[in-house]
Amino acid sequence: MTVGPAASTLPDYLDPKILGFDPVEVRRRYAHERAIRLRADGNDQFVEVTDDYAHFEDDPLSQSPPPRAALEIETDAVILGGGIGGLLAAVRLHEIGVTDIRIVEHAGDFGGVWYWNRYPGAQCDTESYIYLPLLEETGYIPSERYVHQPEILAHLQRIGRQYGLYERALFHTKLDEAQWCEPEARWHVRTDRGDVLKARFVIMSTGPLHRPKLPGVPGIRSFGGKSFHTSRWDYGYTGGDTTGGLTGLADKRVGIIGTGATAVQVVPVVARHAGQLTLFQRTPSYVDERLNRPTDMAWAKSLGPGWQYERDENFCLIMGGHPVEKDLVNDKWTDYFRLAMKILDVEGDGATDERKAWLREIADYTKGNDIRARVARIVRDPVTAEKLKPWYGQWCKRPGFHDEYLQAFNRANVALVDTGGKGIERITENAVVVDGVAHELDCLIFATGFETGTAYMRRSECEVIGRDGVKLSDAWSKGMRTFQGFMSHGFPNCFHIGLTQTGVAFNYTYTVTGQARHLAHLIGQVIARGARTMEPTAAAEAAWLDLVRSPGPLRKYQETCTPSYFNVEGKNSGQGFIDNQYPAGAVAFFRMLEAWRAQGDLAGLVVE
Ligand code: NDP
Repeated sequence: MTVGPAASTLPDYLDPKILGFDPVEVRRRYAHERAIRLRADGNDQFVEVTDDYAHFEDDPLSQSPPPRAALEIETDAVILGGGIGGLLAAVRLHEIGVTDIRIVEHAGDFGGVWYWNRYPGAQCDTESYIYLPLLEETGYIPSERYVHQPEILAHLQRIGRQYGLYERALFHTKLDEAQWCEPEARWHVRTDRGDVLKARFVIMSTGPLHRPKLPGVPGIRSFGGKSFHTSRWDYGYTGGDTTGGLTGLADKRVGIIGTGATAVQVVPVVARHAGQLTLFQRTPSYVDERLNRPTDMAWAKSLGPGWQYERDENFCLIMGGHPVEKDLVNDKWTDYFRLAMKILDVEGDGATDERKAWLREIADYTKGNDIRARVARIVRDPVTAEKLKPWYGQWCKRPGFHDEYLQAFNRANVALVDTGGKGIERITENAVVVDGVAHELDCLIFATGFETGTAYMRRSECEVIGRDGVKLSDAWSKGMRTFQGFMSHGFPNCFHIGLTQTGVAFNYTYTVTGQARHLAHLIGQVIARGARTMEPTAAAEAAWLDLVRSPGPLRKYQETCTPSYFNVEGKNSGQGFIDNQYPAGAVAFFRMLEAWRAQGDLAGLVVE
């Protein structure tokens, strides 16, 4: 942890009396709350949704996928995943004339996380003008600043239609294995529907948050009531749709486990409909204002060419802590950074790095105090309010934004069961047990998030076999190995899109937008040069590993954080969600790639 000066030596404007709080005391409280939550089992506390738990991954929308004949075809590229990353890859390939492709997708449609996460209240937390991809290309303007799931899904379907991708999609299909055939210089891709696709290129875009995870507490399988994960919402049971109308819950005692960004959106809607809602909390979320509003169409019409990328990049620069002239998005995501800049400005450039880190810490605590004060203002019962106050840095966990979440705890039918940082004790046939008290339920909903930090190939649920029969799961057994986050030595013509040692932005769309552009350049170069293969050298890959494995600022910040999926549940093992990324941030990463492309020599790659 950064060492700041003792409170007694703070300059006037950082004096506890003037600040209104003692930063040293806040730091102590954060460390205390973290210590309560640290646990030896880290990611092993969760059970994988296989075997007896496999039904938690079933698609409630299409129990029996339509029959189709197995394909045996040659194609230019196979893209694994039809979410935002896969769609953008397909669009950029389309633009360079690579249109003979197949998109293999486990779900019944495009959309990725927005196909699966249809829980009531599901909504975009990042401003829709930068989160929804290809707005200029499609001419679409989102109806609200933070649109809801149906509109996001419809937009992704629009992209699919506009670029003719439906004809190239293999839905309800899982990729089993992709094997490199050296003599043919082709990937032989096999699926669970019996397809054999011979492809020149394979693009993996399996997404970072797609495998539900469940708490590995005793008795989880014994629950006899209805239970499901938020990403597989069962409207057949609850009634209604993403907007509400959950009439099936009217006479039910509903329990929700988890208080992350998903629960923050689900709770207000379930609270309105359930007979009784009990929320089981281990760690409270940061919940800031949402401040949604309909889009001002006159403003939208005034936007000039290139506006979306400019806005997106501006957001990512601010979120990376870089000074900008104007905050274009200017919402609650960027609040902290505005505050930090203001505090840092007081001392100017003369401050040492250590001093600047301390000032950033002050800004973080100040923001935390605002969030805690908001809880106290909204939640009427002071005991409940106290439990809902988060005591950790703003970027330790993914913050939430909502104008009805905290208000839900003022309802007579809503109860908060705080587990004091320990988590639920066990589950029985009809209850969730905390501190020896059984809370009886008819319906149990797991808002417990998604697998991260486990082996990439385990999460991708397939195998990729490269040159000389080497499996990617073996090559990556001690962590990913890539060059620039796109390719691995020994796996020619196989590309990765997503959080694979790349430039990671808080807006995921920014990351995959830049990646898809670069991917199209790489594949375009193979074609333009009349080459068979593209593959990174072992030396280039090793140099990239050295770069991305050196901890960046967010990783260092995470080391003192309360456990979350960002830091492998407090393990800081180097394989977490925010690890293995370009240390200078996403904007710098894509600017570096731009310069690399301009150089024209494809340094680090062998193209032959
Ligand atoms: P998270 O992983 O963020 O949250 C899981 C929750 O389950 C946490 O509150 C966790 O507590 C709790 N939990 C886990 N185990 C136990 C246990 N044994 N007992 C009690 N509680 C337990 O998952 P979410 O689905 O909420 O969010 C995942 C991500 O999805 C977000 O971080 C965000 O990136 C994305 N998302 C994006 C949205 C958007 O608008 N774009 C909207 C919603 C989600 P603890 O905190 O103590 O670990």
